[in-house]
Amino acid sequence: MTKDQYAFDDPTTRYPTIEPPEQEKPEPGLEKDIEPKPDLGEDSYRGTGRLEGRKALITGGDSGIGAATAIAYAREGADVVLSYLPEEEADAQKIVALIEAAGRKAVTVPGDLKDPEYCRELVSTAVSELGGLDIVVNNGGKQVYQENLEDLTDEQFDHTFKTNVYAMFWITKAALPHLKPGSTIINTTSVEAYSPAPILVDYATTKASINTFSKSLAQQLAPRGIRVNTVAPGPVWTALQTSDGQPTEDLPEFGKSTPLGRAGQPAELAPAYVFLASGESSFVVGETLNVNGGMPTP
Ligand code: NAD
Ligand code: MG
Repeated sequence: MTKDQYAFDDPTTRYPTIEPPEQEKPEPGLEKDIEPKPDLGEDSYRGTGRLEGRKALITGGDSGIGAATAIAYAREGADVVLSYLPEEEADAQKIVALIEAAGRKAVTVPGDLKDPEYCRELVSTAVSELGGLDIVVNNGGKQVYQENLEDLTDEQFDHTFKTNVYAMFWITKAALPHLKPGSTIINTTSVEAYSPAPILVDYATTKASINTFSKSLAQQLAPRGIRVNTVAPGPVWTALQTSDGQPTEDLPEFGKSTPLGRAGQPAELAPAYVFLASGESSFVVGETLNVNGGMPTP
């Protein structure tokens, strides 16, 4: 039997050190096309009823960290709405099948996070299809490297901010009237928020914004019984990295500079999102939960 997430073993070798071959996929990267395949916990995540009856919306839920979270949420007892781009339908359908195999409802709402109307429709569809909403995971993101600021176009700067920051604002604002006390909002930031790479100026700036947005909003919503927190991943093997998230020649070394000496797998992020969604984190508010293989944080 495959070991579940509770296995007692050595974190340096829990997952193999990967050497992804150089590969360049068009944005958004499709997970079904990348090598090696990320581990989403398909064969390992074991639920223990921590989110029984909860109703969750996850952006970027088709692949990577969002997909691993969707699988975990379903196995913990939650129904899940997935947001993703229409061209990611094949990746999304794999996750739908896994949610349904866990006996939970999966609702797909493909569309473009850069569009405020889509963001609002996403929330209203989630509320009507699930009969409410109590977990919002803002996780969809755009990361495209540029060596020189001169090559960072106005359009890219705008699209990175719309996808990573504006969509979080639009979705959170639309969700708020539906969130009862006990509900949770979890935003995906990054180690890039405080250790920015020189080639990720726009992306790193959005991730710092997500941190600050979340810490401000967490204080505003805490008296209403709604908790806001963030997860800050370090290098995690996903399709984001293969669609110009990194220079392709750097992929074989991806993640090796972490203290654990390897990249993380999406399956290793999902428990952080479960913890922050469930009542067991009831006194955790405005926190940044770093899941990064040991990279120092402020
Ligand atoms: P991923 O490519 O699997 O997921 C990102 C998702 O964002 C895509 O699947 C896509 O559905 C969604 N998305 C992007 N642009 C969109 C748009 N315009 N409209 C709708 N959806 C859109 O990669 P991932 O690594 O799992 O990324 C998830 C989150 O984790 C992102 O916010 C990313 O910044 C963050 N993150 C990733 C890493 C890493 O090393 N992989 C590190 C730190 C933070
Ligand atoms: Mg995807």
